Amino acid sequence: MQAQSSFNEKDKGRLYLVPTPIGNLEDITLRAKRILTEADYIAAEDTRTSGILLEKIGVHNKMISFHKYNSKERAPELIKLLKEGNTIAEISDAGMPVISDPGYILVQECIKNDIPVVALPGPSAFATALIASGFDAQPFTYYGFLPRKSSEQKEYFEMMNQARATSIFYEAPHRLQKTLKTLAEVIKPDRKIVLARELTKIHEEYLRGTISEINEYFTKNDPRGEFVVLVSPNDDEEKQLSWDELIKQVADRVEAGESKKDAIKLVAKANKVSKNELYDKYHQN
Ligand code: SAM
Repeated sequence: MQAQSSFNEKDKGRLYLVPTPIGNLEDITLRAKRILTEADYIAAEDTRTSGILLEKIGVHNKMISFHKYNSKERAPELIKLLKEGNTIAEISDAGMPVISDPGYILVQECIKNDIPVVALPGPSAFATALIASGFDAQPFTYYGFLPRKSSEQKEYFEMMNQARATSIFYEAPHRLQKTLKTLAEVIKPDRKIVLARELTKIHEEYLRGTISEINEYFTKNDPRGEFVVLVSPNDDEEKQLSWDELIKQVADRVEAGESKKDAIKLVAKANKVSKNELYDKYHQN
């Protein structure tokens, strides 16, 4: 076990994960701006893109390029700087670093090297879309970008089809129509989905409808801008799992180390059954 305090080691370098706006510049937090100003270095996914943002918010600081193609080689250099006592603020082009963006490798390396990692809260497209979608936010599954091949996407859509949780993924506008067609091949056409477009920007909009309505819409309109896709939870009564299947799910979670109480609560919530009833059935078993 490793317990790592982020705040007591004043003389040591530290990695800050700093979210940046996903469109609206006002979404930079006071703390994010201060950390970006005070850090010894800013590790940025694209120094040109971030240079424009930093200029606009009045931050002038040294940037180091750190993106998915150089992260393996660059990480040891950044770790060296951190070990020398420098603080590094890591940013991506937009939103939260690590969320479908680089950063994960550096976080892992910091943990291995006992360097504190401090994550700042802030904008992320999937969480913004989720809370306005109107779908239940608990539980949810975030998939990031799906594979590009339809055959591979179908495996993910099968999971979303069965899921009693809201499913969320990102898609580029030029691939959206094809991806939605593949979605319609796997999931029933009356299942509700939401497309959150251009969040926090002038053309922000939520397209809410069934899979067939949204597909129909995109036969007449070309997708423009950035999109988050949300698929509603499966609430088909006939697909309700049996008590035996639910009890097995609880048992599997308990075997994997979860407490009985937590496992029962989670399985009951995910399957929309009474927690007390599941508790009784589990203990009668
Ligand atoms: N790190 C970012 C985050 O925290 O959301 C995600 C970066 S990922 C490379 C870019 C994708 O995020 C876009 O293709 C789009 O699917 C989604 N995205 C980012 N900004 C968005 C916005 N303003 N509106 C809708 N989707 C957005």
